[in-house]
Order: sequence, then C-alpha cells, then structure tokens
Amino acid sequence: MKKVFYSLSLLLAGIAIVTTSCNHGASTDGLQNEIVLSNFDTTVKPGNDFFEYVNGTWLKNNPIPASEARWGSFDIANDSNIARVHKILMDASADKSKAPNSIPQKVGDFYAMALDSDKLNKDGISPLKDELANINKVSDNKSLWEECARLMKMGSNVMFRFSVGQDDKISTKEICQFSQGGMLLPGKDYYVDTTARMKKIRTAYVEYLTQLFGQLGEESVAAQNAEKVLHMETEMANSAMTNIETRDVHAVYNKMTFADLEKMTPSIDWTTCMNVWGLKSIDTVLVAQPKFMVQISDLTKSFSIDDWKTYLRVQLLATESIRYKLSDAIADINFNFWGKTLSGTKVMKPRWRRSVEATNAAIGELVGQLYVAKYFSAETKERVHTMVTNIITAYKERINNLTWMSPETKKFAIGKLDKITLKLCYPDKWRDYSALEIKNDAYALNAFRVGEYKFNYNLNKLGKPVDRTEWGMSPQTVNAYYEPTLNEICFPAGILQFPFFEANRDDAMNYGGIGAVIGHELTHGFDDQGNQYDGDGNMRKWWTDADSTHYFDKLGLVIRQFDDFVIDSVHVKGKLTIGENTADLGGITIAYQALENDLKQHPEGIVDGFTPEQRFFISLAQIWRQNARPAYIRQMVNTNPHAPANFRVLGPLANMSEFYKAFNVKPGDAMYRSDSLRAVIW
Ligand SMILES: [Zn+2]
Repeated sequence: MKKVFYSLSLLLAGIAIVTTSCNHGASTDGLQNEIVLSNFDTTVKPGNDFFEYVNGTWLKNNPIPASEARWGSFDIANDSNIARVHKILMDASADKSKAPNSIPQKVGDFYAMALDSDKLNKDGISPLKDELANINKVSDNKSLWEECARLMKMGSNVMFRFSVGQDDKISTKEICQFSQGGMLLPGKDYYVDTTARMKKIRTAYVEYLTQLFGQLGEESVAAQNAEKVLHMETEMANSAMTNIETRDVHAVYNKMTFADLEKMTPSIDWTTCMNVWGLKSIDTVLVAQPKFMVQISDLTKSFSIDDWKTYLRVQLLATESIRYKLSDAIADINFNFWGKTLSGTKVMKPRWRRSVEATNAAIGELVGQLYVAKYFSAETKERVHTMVTNIITAYKERINNLTWMSPETKKFAIGKLDKITLKLCYPDKWRDYSALEIKNDAYALNAFRVGEYKFNYNLNKLGKPVDRTEWGMSPQTVNAYYEPTLNEICFPAGILQFPFFEANRDDAMNYGGIGAVIGHELTHGFDDQGNQYDGDGNMRKWWTDADSTHYFDKLGLVIRQFDDFVIDSVHVKGKLTIGENTADLGGITIAYQALENDLKQHPEGIVDGFTPEQRFFISLAQIWRQNARPAYIRQMVNTNPHAPANFRVLGPLANMSEFYKAFNVKPGDAMYRSDSLRAVIW
C-alpha cells in the first residue's frame, strides 16, 4: 500500500544534464554570493509577484536543457551530485583489483554493464528470453499466477502491488499490504478521462505499446495487441481510486484476515503466489483498495489466458526498471512516450547520465557509502542539527500561542514533536547488500536481480520488529522526507548544499533555504494525513473534535486558494496538493519564527541591501526557481501532490503578514489578501 513518503519535491525518474552552468555567482574566494541581484527582475514589484521579482532574470537566462522536462534549483543541486557520483562510478568500474562482491565491484560492474551500448544493442531483447519463455508456458489460471508472482518478485508491476510495511494502527508491526497496480499510465484519469488531451495520450500510448510488441517480433498483431492491453488496463482502472481518493488514509486502511481476502478474490491463486514468494502463512493483511482486488480476480476469468500472456509480455518490456536497460531502439521507443509525450522533454539524456541515475536508483546505499566517505562534512551535520533543534523549539512556541487549539491537543502535538526521529546526512547502519549479486551477463538481468533482492529484503521484514534505523532515501539524494508511521524526518547529505544550505553564509539565508525545508517536513507530521498519526506512528484520533473542525476549516481555505491558481490554463488541484501546501505554509512560518528567535541572540544587519527578514524570503524564492515544460506541468498538476514551483512561493507568502511587512505589501498589490482571506494555521 504505502510507504507514504512526504517528500519535498517529487523528482522525475532521471533528472538533469550538465549543460547549464550554475549561475549563482561564485566569488573568487570560493564563497557563494548570497544574493545575486542580476537574477532578479526589479521591474516586477515584490508584492505583485515575488517569485518573478527574485527569479525573473534567472528564469530568462537559464532555459531548460533539451534533455530535461524542467530546470531549477533542485536539478542544479542534483547535477553537482550526479557529477560526484559519476566520478565514483568511473573509478570503481576502472579499478582492476576490486574484490568479488565488494562495494566497488557491485557499483562498478552495475555501471559498466549499463554503459556498454555495443553489448546492449547486440543483445537486443535476448536477456528477456527466459522470462518470455516462462510467459509462453502459461496455460491455465495456476500457471498464470505463478508467472505473475514471479514477475512481481523481479520488480515488475503486474496485476497489483504487494509489499510488507508497517501496520498504520500498530506501528511496531510489519504486515502484508496489497494495493492497486498493474497499469502503466500515471493514474486512473489517464484511462478514464474523456478530455481531448487524455484521449491524445491514450492514442500515443497505444502507438507506444504497438512499437514494443514490434520489438517482441509480433509486428503483424502488434496494433491489435496494444489495443487489447489498453482495454485490459482500462478495466483495471475502472475499479481503481484516483490520486485524490488515495490521500484518505482511512479509506485505504482495510484490515482483513488473509482467509477473507482469499474468499473475496477466488480467481487469484494465492497458494501459488505464496509459494513463489516463499511465504508460509499470513494471518491478517491490509488491502488499500478491496474493490480493485475483486476486479482483478474477476478480470482473471473474463479475459482469456492468451490475453493475459499478451499483457504480461509487454509489461515485462515496459516496466519502469527495464525501460532503458535494453537496446537503443527500445530506449528510444520508451523515451518517445515517457519523455516526449508525457513530459515534453526534447532529447534523451546521454547514456552515462542515465547509467549513473540507474545505479543510484538500484543500489543507492552502496553508492552512498562511497559518496559519504568522499564528500561528507561533519561541520554541515552539526550546523543543520542545530537548525532542526531551533525550528522544533519555534514550532512548539507557535503551537503554545495558537488561539484556535485547545490545551489538550496542544499538549499532544508538542509531545509528538518531542518524539520525532531525526535522520541527518547518512544512515548510522548501512543496508546489507550481501544477498545481491551483480554479474557481467546483462544489464537487464542485473536489474531483475536488484528487483528480487529488494523484494526479498522487504519480505524478510515480516514477523520482525520494525527497523527504525532504516533510511528511505540514499545520502546522495537532493530531497527530504517525513514518514508518519515512523514519525521521522530525513535530510540526506545531498540536499545540504547551495541554494538550500551553506556552512559559510548567514542564518537568514539558511533559514529561508534548508530551514523552510526542515519546517516543511516537520509540518507534514500535522498535515491532512500526518495529523491522523500519533508520536509513535499509530493512526489514531488524538485531536478533540472541536480542534479537528477548526483545523479542517483552515485547510478548506488553503484548498480554495490553490484551486484558484491557474497555470497554462489548467487549475491546480487544491485537494490533491493540500498536504504539501500546508507543509509549505507551516514550514515557512516556523522557519521564520526560528530565525526571529535566532536574531535576538545573534543580530544580523543589512547584507546586499536587504534586511535579514527580506533575505529569508529571497532565499525561499531562490530554492523554488524553476523553468518547466508545459507537458510536464500538465502531468504534474494531474498527478503530483506538489503544486507547481511558483505557487509554492506565491501561495504561502500571500498568507503571511511577516512577508507583507518585510516587502511592504499593500492593498492593490496582486499578492495582497485581506486579513480574513489569509490562512494562518500554525
Ligand atoms: Zn512535502
């Protein structure tokens, strides 16, 4: 069902390319200039569009590279990490003396196989031949499920999703979880929405599948097979939840005995699945979408075995972990659909770049160990740790001063903050990859081995205590997250760089950068979903009814504010983005409070012509600067719980009197909202 990651910014799979230099004004002594006025558009009044005011010229001077769907602070920071990881991987693959099964062997050989385009083109689809033969042998319901279970084990998304994860109501327990899956397009709307745009995407999808069937040697029936697969997936989608519906943590929490699940879905051969997965007995399970599971069971019977074999063949080739791991011809077909049609990207990233990203995605903590050994700074960890502590203190102060919340709920909220686990820079205990073998036979086969390793790693959790030391992101990631079932926040080393953080710049800029990110993640513990979990990560009601009503009234205002934002003639979905928008608003508010507290101890004057308060907001606008392609924005608005980047600045700041004061925002300014229309939650 989950891991619910409340990450800061959902990056596209695969990010950027080093073609644009980082225009933030490195000075000759190696220090970053804090504020580069030439990036501003000073013809724009701050109170009319603060995002444009701070970033206008930067946006003009930093067009999106052809291989990207968007280009901004996250991508540039990620770029510098990719360059570092690239160096690590080149060294590891060139090291002739590396011991078998050592870290350099695994990361070096994975990367080298990814890079070998001659071999990939020569091999074509032959690395899939054993699995295609297995699909071909399917002859009845039992052998169908045997194959589905095996493909799931290899990391392929067929039929539904299965994983082991924390029980939301007993956060010390790991439990088997089932949820909707089996469809390749990014959400239910893509199958059922009747707008011209979605119809066009479906036409392109059929064309894409047709080409894949062509690669499988089925040219004469390729178009017909593609239509069939779209039809099958649409039938699945008819019983699936939308991206907004899956946000309801109660609706997706359906505990039942395994026997009841079996009874409910008689055509799913569970005994066979269990055997393939190596599971002995299961007592209870969580089913996120019972209706979807019933539909899968029904569809198993209503489509023929031949239909299912057709479905499985193309899923094998189109699954995310394989798309770019075969020949150039197949990578091109995938890029044309996923890159060009869905995201508007012009050209594919070079192979070395895709290979670095794939290695990061496959064996991130192995790469991470080498990354941390080379690039980790203890001073950074210390500084950020202090900031987190200060921001938690500020959050507690804000909670204590709230007029809309009862003392009872306040006490609980503060207790929850006291229990938050902080994960900073890199894990104390690294993941054990000894069960994973990386070989020199084929890139795709390494991907299958990684898939199976991850599957077994996840399954091994069953029956064991929850491991609270585990990390959900690798250290080299430019992102952060909050996890409600663990009540933890995580800031990998990768994000602790410009423009988010710098050890040698003033607090105002750091609080407006990484400070707002820290605040954002902390606030996720109290957003529309996080507020339903207690300090130990259990989903249970701890708010009084009156407080809950007040709180959801305030969220209603934020939902309406974002519904009103329009980009590229599409409205932002207030309900889809409410968790992230309240995390942004709360995060900026408490980071600002922490800065004010800090300034009482260590006053700061005017720097670069701006007060500390002004620099705080400028730094915030800087971290969200980004150009994005229209297709990418439309996809994001449809599927992504994060609002487009400019609204992540304009939305929250228009609610903050602190911002009005810092930039003298007055009635008549475009961002101005009267008191009664401002959302103040924390
Ligand atoms: Zn978030």
